[in-house]
Amino acid sequence: MASLISCPHCGVRPKEEFTIRGDASLARPTGDADAGVWYDYVYLRDNPKGRHKEYWHHSSGCRRWLIVERDTVSHAVHTVSDAALAKLGGAA
Ligand SMILES: [Zn+2]
Repeated sequence: MASLISCPHCGVRPKEEFTIRGDASLARPTGDADAGVWYDYVYLRDNPKGRHKEYWHHSSGCRRWLIVERDTVSHAVHTVSDAALAKLGGAA
């Protein structure tokens, strides 16, 4: 696990200030989607090896949701962006 996360709002902070919430690449199904699609979305997760994006909540800091791109093998953190700003197409 990464030991330091560089929050775009608070600066470099220890990982203990954050709560990880999983894969940031999942797309939420529509309300009328099949139950099987919802089951997959809620319960099934990949276990990627290498670089991927995850949601992290700065729960002991600014309380913003971040997208952290990290490597699950080396634990290196590559990028950190504000999730709300990234969703709007802006940079963090
Ligand atoms: Zn923060």
